[in-house]
Amino acid sequence: MKPQGIAVLGATGSIGVNTLDVLARHTDRYRVEVLTGNRQVDRMLAQCLQFSPRVVVMADETVAGALRQRLAERSLSGIQVWHGAEALVEAVRLPEVDVVMAAIVGVAGLPSAMAAAQAGKRVLLANKESLVVAGRLFMQAVERGGATLLPVDSEHNAIFQSLPDNWSGDLDAAGVDKIILTASGGPFRTRPADTFAAITPQDACKHPNWEMGRKISVDSATLMNKGLEVIEAHWLFNAPVDRIDVVVHPQSVIHSMVQYRDGSVIAQLGSPDMRTPIACALAWPQRVDAGVPPLDLCALSALTFEAPDLQRFPCLGLAFAAIRAGGDAPAVLNAANEVAVAAFLDGRIRFVDIPGLVESALSHGHLGASNSLGDLLAKDQDTRAYLLTRIGASC
Ligand code: NAD
Ligand code: MG
Repeated sequence: MKPQGIAVLGATGSIGVNTLDVLARHTDRYRVEVLTGNRQVDRMLAQCLQFSPRVVVMADETVAGALRQRLAERSLSGIQVWHGAEALVEAVRLPEVDVVMAAIVGVAGLPSAMAAAQAGKRVLLANKESLVVAGRLFMQAVERGGATLLPVDSEHNAIFQSLPDNWSGDLDAAGVDKIILTASGGPFRTRPADTFAAITPQDACKHPNWEMGRKISVDSATLMNKGLEVIEAHWLFNAPVDRIDVVVHPQSVIHSMVQYRDGSVIAQLGSPDMRTPIACALAWPQRVDAGVPPLDLCALSALTFEAPDLQRFPCLGLAFAAIRAGGDAPAVLNAANEVAVAAFLDGRIRFVDIPGLVESALSHGHLGASNSLGDLLAKDQDTRAYLLTRIGASC
């Protein structure tokens, strides 16, 4: 069988590196055609040496030129180095690309993920922000483009695995009562709220169970990540928000669950290792080795569950409010959160300022309901400008 051509968008990030680890175990099944890496020249060079892709996409001409030169020194001038946001979209459309791993962080990953859906590719979606910002348009693009959409986010991959094989997008027809998203609770689950003001970026990026990029690590610490995942589940599984529950499960062994009408609850378990959902999405409906050691049930401590604390973690409530408000509210929530998290990581605001800033963007002006990707991206930009002004004024 001819190997499938893969594009790994965000190859130099946490999900990208895990994806390449799985792909390297199955070179007979998969051939890496495209890698994208924004600004990380050294890491991209190493990936080019290992995988010899057809095309690499970097952020701009400066980093692309630096990479080209390093490749030429190693007689790898055959690898084309493109740059810029438009090149990401062109790369996923290449006929050699069958499968697209969408693992760029933030709304920057939306146009390329959308292009992959429109082009009818098999889309492995890690970039949850695509569905948060443009859920309706994205799901339409999947349907119209004839794409196959497979969730990589561990909770959504768990739900996907816990739904019936003949899942048609109708919860009632499948006998599903509720979708139950598990949350680790993040690094501050038991920390007293009156000490939150002292939280540093380093504290927030120290997740108890998962090794992830910095933005999603902060989102996990504020519980905004779970809020974004509620919105992601709403679109992926055609689920009204009232049929999505969040339960804190600090051990991160049960990755999520589906509760059926007859009282059955089907869950997916595994070690907290993103290579499992990545391999599942890559090979589905087959199964391939992911390099993940088997789960040792006897070595596990007790599995515990508790309700999320919306007082100490208001971002989760803000995300529920945004999806209930509908229209562009989730896009505004996402843009505001991206700006606030970046400002926190840069030391310009405190951890406790994040929810208030996101809330201010949601209650600022008319939210509306955009009908095109262009309009949504304009809304994203407007929100960023508004929030940057607010942050500037308060610093
Ligand atoms: P990361 O920060 O480790 O990596 C991000 C990647 O995107 C890097 O390759 C970076 O070069 C690239 N990138 C950043 N900005 C870019 C831009 N403007 N244009 C083009 N490329 C850009 O992030 P991550 O943790 O790998 O997360 C990636 C996505 O997957 C996020 O949407 C995140 O929510 C989602 N996700 C991650 C995990 C995880 O365990 N890391 C789990 C579930 C979902
Ligand atoms: Mg997740």
